Formats: sequence, C-alpha cells, structure tokens
Amino acid sequence: MEAINLSDRLSRYMDAGFPILYLNTFEEKLAIEQIQKAATTQKLIQWSYADGYSVYSLLKKEYQVPAERESFLNVMEVNEPDDFDRSLFVIKDAATVLEDPVSVAYLKELAIKISSGLECTVILLSPILRIPKELENFITILEMEYQTEEEIRQDIQNFCWDYEISISDTLLKEMALNFKGLTKSEIFSILSLAYSGSGELSRTDMKLIFEQKQQKIRKSGILEMIPLKETLEDIGGLEVLKKWLQKKAVVMKNLKQAEAFGVDFPKGVLIAGVPGCGKSLSAKAAASLFEVPLLRMDMGRLMGKYVGESEENLRKAIALAEAISPCVLWVDELEKAFAGIGGIGGGAEVTTRLFGNFLTWMQEKKSPVFVVATANDILKLPPELLRKGRFDEIYYVGLPKEEERRHIFEIHMKKRRPGDLSGINLDELAHATDGYSGADIESVVKDSIESAFVSKRTAVTTKDILASIHQTHSLSEIMREPIEQMKKLYEQNKFKNASV
Ligand code: ADP
Repeated sequence: MEAINLSDRLSRYMDAGFPILYLNTFEEKLAIEQIQKAATTQKLIQWSYADGYSVYSLLKKEYQVPAERESFLNVMEVNEPDDFDRSLFVIKDAATVLEDPVSVAYLKELAIKISSGLECTVILLSPILRIPKELENFITILEMEYQTEEEIRQDIQNFCWDYEISISDTLLKEMALNFKGLTKSEIFSILSLAYSGSGELSRTDMKLIFEQKQQKIRKSGILEMIPLKETLEDIGGLEVLKKWLQKKAVVMKNLKQAEAFGVDFPKGVLIAGVPGCGKSLSAKAAASLFEVPLLRMDMGRLMGKYVGESEENLRKAIALAEAISPCVLWVDELEKAFAGIGGIGGGAEVTTRLFGNFLTWMQEKKSPVFVVATANDILKLPPELLRKGRFDEIYYVGLPKEEERRHIFEIHMKKRRPGDLSGINLDELAHATDGYSGADIESVVKDSIESAFVSKRTAVTTKDILASIHQTHSLSEIMREPIEQMKKLYEQNKFKNASV
C-alpha cells in the first residue's frame, strides 16, 4: 500500500495529465472530500443521478441544474469538450453511466481531447468497477487506501475523546490491529455500535469487530475470513511441515525485530498432495500458530465478466489482504484457479494474465502476508509456480504412515470421546488402516461413535472402530493409481515430504 494519501495521489495524476481516474470505492463522501482537497485551484464539475449537474468554482457552488433536467447524456450533449477546460469533472454513479454506449463514446471523445492537451481530469466514482473496452487505455484505477494502524489508533482515540470513554493502551493497540482492512467509516460505525451496546469500549467488543470485519470481507466477494479453531495439535503427523511452520512463527510473531535484524518476510508455502490428508488443516493451524487472521481466497470467484475485472478483483483481494496483514492468505485448490493457463481464447488469456499477476506479487511481496497455497493435483500446476523465489518451500503430503495414523485416531477420539481413549488400542487401529487418509480415519471414528450410540452402548471400543474400518473403503482403494503417480512425481521434483 502506498503511504501517501489519496488527495496527494489525485493531484499527482491530475498534474501528469491522466485523462480518467476511476475511484473504486463505497466511501463516496470521503472520496469527495479528498477530491476537493486536491482540487482547490480548479473548477469542479459534478454529476450524479440524485443531484444532476453542479458547477463549483473554488469550491463555491456556482449553479446547479436539477437532476430531472440534466441527465448525463444532456450534460455531454450541451457542453463541448472545451467547456471542460481547466476543470475537474467528477461523475458519481459511474458504473451505470458506463453501461450506456453513447455516454461512453462522449467520454472517449473527452479523454482524447485531454490526452492532446485539454486541461481536465475526469473522475469516475463508483463502488462497482466497470471498464468499457473503449475507455480501457484512458482509465487509471485508484483505490482508496486503507488506514494504517497508526491512523486507526488515532481514530479510536478521537472517538473515545468525543464520547468521553477511557480506553487502556493495550486495548487500543489490540483494537487498532483488529480494525486493519476496514475503512474509516466502517471503523466509525463499528465503534458506534459497540458503544451504543454497552456505553463503553471493552475487550468483549473484539467479537463484534471480528464479525463485522468478516461480513465486510465476505462482501468483497473474493476473500473470506475464517474463524480460527484448529491448531497444530489437531494435526496428526506431518512433523516436518509442523516444525517448519514453528520456525516461521517466530518471525511472524516478531515481525519488527525480525525486519530490523534483516530477516525477509516469509512468502509462504505450497502444500500439495493427496486429498483429505491435512493440507487445509495445516493452512488453518498456521494462522493460529502465527496468531494472525486467516483469509481464504476463492480463486473461482475472481473471474469477472468485464474487461479487466478479474485482474481488478485479484488486485483488490491482495490490497485487502495487505491491509489486514500480518495474516495468512490461504489460496485453496490452487490448481483449479489456474487451470487452462497458456490456452487460447478469452478465458484462458485472462487466467494466464491473472496467474502472471499473482506470480509477480508473490515474487515482489514485501508485506507480511503469508501465503499458504494448497493443491491436490500438482500435475495441473504451471511449472513457473514451482520455481524458487515464489514460495519459501513446497511440501507434499502423502497418505499418513502407521505412526501418523495412530496419532490421527488419537486426535479424533480425544475430540469426541476423551473418556474412551484409554480403552482403545490405537496401534491395532493404525495397523488396520494402511491406505486410509486422515479424512477417512475421521469418518471411521465418527461412524463408530454413532453406531455405539445407536446400539445404546455406553462406550466406544476398539472393536467398534475396527468394524467401521472394515465397512469403509480407503482412499487408496478408490484412487490407488493417481496417488502412486503423484508420489512418483513429487519424488522426481524433489519436493519435501511433509512427514518424516
Ligand atoms: P485436504 O488435504 O484435502 O485439505 P483436510 O485438511 O481438509 O484435507 O482434511 C479433511 C479432514 O480430515 C480434516 O478436517 C481433519 O478432520 C481430517 N484430517 C485430515 N488429515 C488429518 C491429519 N493429518 N490429522 C488430523 N486430522 C486430519
């Protein structure tokens, strides 16, 4: 994220003669404030559905034509491009205007004039990003930047002063960290909501902040904030991977000191391999271990139908993750997202471009966004992704070995029937489940518990579990061939085994 504020960025773009700036934001009021700040010496022309056409000079309203008489098309028909000289033309509700081909044609004409010397900047304002092909070369997208932790802290402090609430330094710090990734007005409304509930701000409001943030992130459509439940303790086996994550945790938990010492921010890890063997579990446990939020990126939803929309979605998701950082960004089923790379046709080209953008970001990433990418089928992954410098490490996860299976049984029994555990022969269960995945073992445990309950027994025994093992088809029974092929490939590529 750039540190300079929006009004400075706007002035720079205007000075440099960029014809159309697209402010993609929900924060219209804040955007207008920033635009006015950047526009003090210019004429400001503003159009919106609700207010029609208004002209301000030195920020004093000169005249306004009401909306019912002044559609956007009217404005463009009545005014010559030269009438926009030395002005800033702000178009609110831009996404709807851009749906109309005639309006687009007028804007293009104006943009061409600006490119050849007319002193004007068009600012499109809308929470929806819609870039018509005709305007693609003229438009620069500007994102409202997120607040820094310091600014957020100041906002909370101001809020407390206004409402005469006292807040401890530790709570202030914790809140500021949790608010990262939200905009100024979102932060204000959450603070108001918390305050109206209890008349104060306290640690119990953290849950509210989390929920609100979760909603906002969900609304962004591409990222999802996942509550942290799983820890390293919930993973049976995968000792090598766990140890590696613990090492990275030291850095992620001491970012400032690590940076001062010259340690590079970790980039992340690619975990590939057999389904149901703990890849997703590891992504979740990593976030708990690092004590940071977990964001899941839905690559399938990145693809948009307008030109540039998919790239913009990716950019936005990355910007949001960076604003929330330090965090874990979990890219689930990576191979699905990048299927079709290098192919021919619109869809494949977009995927290839997206993939390129993602790689560049991974390569150049300076923020503490720790990427955990998980993939079942590495055969489908483009080789560039596996090259050094993208991820810190690539691990493959195979079917659990006997000792690991023992541990997985123990974990799942302990979770559900801790009292029965002492009577269970874990070694026998582990021995009987060669070729079973972690998910298979979990479902065996669940089944046997259910059966014991249904037959009105008071405890689950080894015999119950063995019976349910015999009724379950293991993963390797179902897909022996692909699993073996995968294993060979991983060994050929010298990926590290996540288990010992
Ligand atoms: P995938 O490798 O496909 O991402 P998951 O991590 O989602 O698989 O595993 C599915 C479920 O199976 C987990 O939620 C967990 O309950 C169980 N499981 C899989 N592997 C393990 C493991 N190594 N230790 C404990 N439970 C496991």
